[in-house]
Amino acid sequence: MRKKIVAGNWKMNKTFSQAEDLLFSIADRLQKDRPEDVTVVVFPPALYLELAKDVSTDNDFSFGAQNINEHESGAYTGEISAAMVQSIGAEYVILGHSERRQYFGENDNVIAEKIKLALSHELTPVYCCGEALEERENGHHFSVVESQINDALFGLEEDDFKRIVIAYEPVWAIGTGRTATPEQAQEMHAFIRNCVAAKFGKQAADMVSILYGGSCNAANAAELFANADVDGGLIGGASLKPDDFVAIVNSFPK
Ligand code: PEP
Repeated sequence: MRKKIVAGNWKMNKTFSQAEDLLFSIADRLQKDRPEDVTVVVFPPALYLELAKDVSTDNDFSFGAQNINEHESGAYTGEISAAMVQSIGAEYVILGHSERRQYFGENDNVIAEKIKLALSHELTPVYCCGEALEERENGHHFSVVESQINDALFGLEEDDFKRIVIAYEPVWAIGTGRTATPEQAQEMHAFIRNCVAAKFGKQAADMVSILYGGSCNAANAAELFANADVDGGLIGGASLKPDDFVAIVNSFPK
C-alpha cells in the first residue's frame, strides 16, 4: 500500500517565535485528531528544522527542507546541502517546486542532480511537476508533465524510484485560489502513474505516492483526496493555519 501524505510547505514565512507557535499548534491538534495511516510532513524554512525536530518528539509529524544545493559541499555561500539536512534528522526535501524553477532558474537537469543527492543522503524527494496556465489552455499539459517526469526522474534506478514522492502542482493553481477540479487532478495523477508504470513497471507505479498541490484547503481537500490516484496533498497557504492544516490531514475518505 502506498502512503497517504499531507505535507505543508511554509515557503518563506514565519519568524522564529511564530514558527514555534505554529509547530506546537500543529503537534497539539494532531495529538487530538489524526488518522494513524496518514504521514504528516512539515517543510519550514531551513533555519527552523531543528525546532521542528524538537517539537516533533512524539513523532506527530516528520519534517523536511524546502530545497538543497546540487553539490555535495563547498564554496556555495548561502546554500544548504543534503548532508546538512540529513544530519539534522530531516527525512524529506521538496525539489522542483515551480517557484524554484521560476525565480531561481532551476531546470530538470539541476533538479535531477538534486534528486540523486537527496536519495544518496536518505532523504525522500518530493518532486514537484505541473504545467503553466498557457500550457493547459493549449492542450499541452500532459506532454509538459511527461517531459518533467522523464527528465528529472527517469535517469534513476527502479529501486530509487520507490523512495520518491511526486507532487502534481499545476502552476496556475499555486497560491491563486484556483484549484484543479477533482477530475483534472485524478486524470493527471493517473497519467503520471501510467508514465511511471511504463518505465519502471506496475509495482513501482502502485507504490509511489502522488500528491496534489495548488490552492488545496480544508474546504476542497476531501473531494480531491477521494480520487483513486490522489494520495494526499502538498499544501502551501493553508499549512500556515493549524486548524486548516489538521482538517486537511483528516480529509481522507474513512
Ligand atoms: C505550494 O506552493 O506548494 C502550494 C501548493 O501552494 P498553495 O497551497 O498556497 O497553492
